[in-house]
Amino acid sequence: MSDAESRTFDGGLFEGLESAPPATSKGKRRSAKPAGPPSRRVRVLLPLPLETPGGGAYDYRVPAGHPLPEPGTFVAVPLGGREMLGVVWDGDPDPSLPEGKMRDIITPMLAPPMKESLRRFVEWVSAYTLAPPGAVLRMAMSVPSALEPPGQQAGWKLSAAGLAAQGGAPGYRMTAQRRRVLDVMTAEEPRAGADIAVEAEVSTGVLRGMADAGLIEPALLPRPRAFSRPDPEHPGPSLAPEQAEVAASLRDAVAKRAFGVTLLAGVTGSGKTEVYLDAVAECLRQGRQSLVLLPEIALSSQWLDRFKARFGCAPALWHSELSGRQRRATWRAVAEGEAQVLVGARSALFLPFPDLGLIIVDEEHETAFKQEDGVIYHARDMAVVRARMAGASCVLVSATPSLETLTNAEQGRYTAQRLPTRHGSAGLPEVEVLDLRKVPPERGRFLSPPLIELITATLARGEQAMLFLNRRGYAPMTLCRTCGHRIRCPNCTAWLVEHRAQRRLQCHHCGHAEPIPQFCPECGAEGNLTAIGPGVERVQEEAAQLFPEARRLVMASDTIPGPAAAAEAARQIAEREVDLIIGTQIVAKGWHFPHLTLVGVVDADLGLAGGDLRAAERTVQLLHQVAGRAGRAESPGRVLLQSWNPDHPVMQALVSGNLDSFMAEEAEARRPGSWPPFGRLAALIVSSEDERAADRVARDLGLAAPGGEGVQVLGPAPAPLSMLRGRHRRRLLLKARRDVAVQPLLRDWLSRVEVPNAVRVQVDVDPVSFL
Ligand code: ADP
Ligand code: ZN
Repeated sequence: MSDAESRTFDGGLFEGLESAPPATSKGKRRSAKPAGPPSRRVRVLLPLPLETPGGGAYDYRVPAGHPLPEPGTFVAVPLGGREMLGVVWDGDPDPSLPEGKMRDIITPMLAPPMKESLRRFVEWVSAYTLAPPGAVLRMAMSVPSALEPPGQQAGWKLSAAGLAAQGGAPGYRMTAQRRRVLDVMTAEEPRAGADIAVEAEVSTGVLRGMADAGLIEPALLPRPRAFSRPDPEHPGPSLAPEQAEVAASLRDAVAKRAFGVTLLAGVTGSGKTEVYLDAVAECLRQGRQSLVLLPEIALSSQWLDRFKARFGCAPALWHSELSGRQRRATWRAVAEGEAQVLVGARSALFLPFPDLGLIIVDEEHETAFKQEDGVIYHARDMAVVRARMAGASCVLVSATPSLETLTNAEQGRYTAQRLPTRHGSAGLPEVEVLDLRKVPPERGRFLSPPLIELITATLARGEQAMLFLNRRGYAPMTLCRTCGHRIRCPNCTAWLVEHRAQRRLQCHHCGHAEPIPQFCPECGAEGNLTAIGPGVERVQEEAAQLFPEARRLVMASDTIPGPAAAAEAARQIAEREVDLIIGTQIVAKGWHFPHLTLVGVVDADLGLAGGDLRAAERTVQLLHQVAGRAGRAESPGRVLLQSWNPDHPVMQALVSGNLDSFMAEEAEARRPGSWPPFGRLAALIVSSEDERAADRVARDLGLAAPGGEGVQVLGPAPAPLSMLRGRHRRRLLLKARRDVAVQPLLRDWLSRVEVPNAVRVQVDVDPVSFL
């Protein structure tokens, strides 16, 4: 037996949960004596975020003559005055409920039932995060319309008359609009009305008029094309020996068809993607489905191109920008096993895979995997749980793995595989710190002379350079030079950020925006407001003055708003239509730009401020990833970090490239205080529009705080973002030793405090953000 099989999974995070009762079971129901002959009843979990004891599970009666639906069957049921879709859940209905209170199931749905592995996952996530089971189920039923069997839809095609009119036959009342419609239609291939209307730039009313005139006629649209099956035998690149070795072990893990977790740690550009695609190929051969989670799917055009090159077709996609129709088709294709490989954002974990064999979490260290609202969960951790429930192999991939994952690997819970060198002849870039105390930028500028010189030389050689600053907009703060007033968001504890191109001030937390004022809102002084500090727009302005000839591209979430823009930016860079890239953290994401040889980090100290638990770790990860964009092809890469703290361990780690020893020191710093991953944290965030109510609940929670061996509660205290979207926020932090199961403590704690409707208490288990 392999170690992966023989090892019982305790995952560290997960101790203590196994014995917890599933959140939806109500305990000792079996012993209740039924009164009279029981009707046939089932429990149905509804996708509602209800904090009731059943958490959204209700009992229903199965009408006589209908077979008893199996657990997992999707059913329509009455709830109050409406009809809702839910899932027949496991566990016994309550026989003591009086017959008169029972309502009948309306109808089972013609959709593949929800597999046991997904039902157990829903319960598990609910128990772990303390979100009601119905709230978690809602994520697994995000496309209710997909439960209707896909019907054929009606569209339009040309009639015989329409065909004649298209050919110019006289006698038909023609307008410019009608002619445009005829031009985009045929008599053979029906098209959807909405598509025709868009392409011909007419309203659908024009189509109805043409149908009345007999020019077009209704016709069934062909069933949407099935998802292509990626071909595992499609020729891929031949792997270098050390890549091949790692790939073989990943394939073996998949072939075992059993749960196990592998950390794939390899330097930037070592070919991790090529290697794990080999595991996907094996999973295809096994006839099981694969799920690849990417932190920012919108930025993944290069990844998709590589997938197509490797497997001959595109994978199924899952992200927030799919249309309703795409979501429906994809959800259904996953449920029916037709979508063999799905690439998605974190919510893809809740798709109804009937036979999941492999989950890959690429860039596993990314905080984008943490969902911060609604059900608060970490998709990397939940991916491991999902894999366990499905008997699947899980691979966590990163050049800069999180301390959590490294520790799991060190303690033998995960298998570790390493790729220590870049693929081909490329070496890792050389990293230096520019001590801003010695070589400061000119007054009012942000680039220091040595960096400017190097950019000039790089551009002169015809190579590309990149400037990185993790801040959108022009300037993070606007100050009145007359009275010292700083312009704040009216809804949040935050400065408004100047976006000069749009002539607006914006809040990056709530979206509030206002025109840049002429007069100080405080003292009324005119024309004396000044921008403080740089954002990428301001760096681009400076670069425009310094390198007027260079073709510049700003890459930030507001200039690269979606997948199409990201793909176009990647194309421009790859085809050398750009010389200088200026970007926020989006430039750190997995890009492969072969002509990029210089990276300048404008403010390497930026992420260290604020001092949260993982500030240093995150800064190292982010800057190492940014640095990893340089020198990925033949020409060597160089990286300059502008810093006021050149001796900081973070800068030293980046210069030496020895992240292992940095992470080891980081571990030693966290171990004594039982900070994660050596202890557990859970945050309570109390918020209300009524400040006094928030304070009251926070105080009550403080008074009711659990104690005892290995448990400590910090707070309540105002959150750093003490006001967000008009709500006052207070935080409490529970810190516990690793062997303490925090969920029962939290449940008990919350049950002892009364929370009025105007106040919300969010539970964040394993918090990543402390704002
Ligand atoms: P990582 O994911 O580790 O950053 P990638 O998988 O993106 O690395 O690989 C870096 C570059 O090297 C990519 O352009 C990739 O196509 C190329 N590459 C990696 N391995 C091979 C190989 N065995 N043969 C050909 N090209 C490879
Ligand atoms: Zn705001």
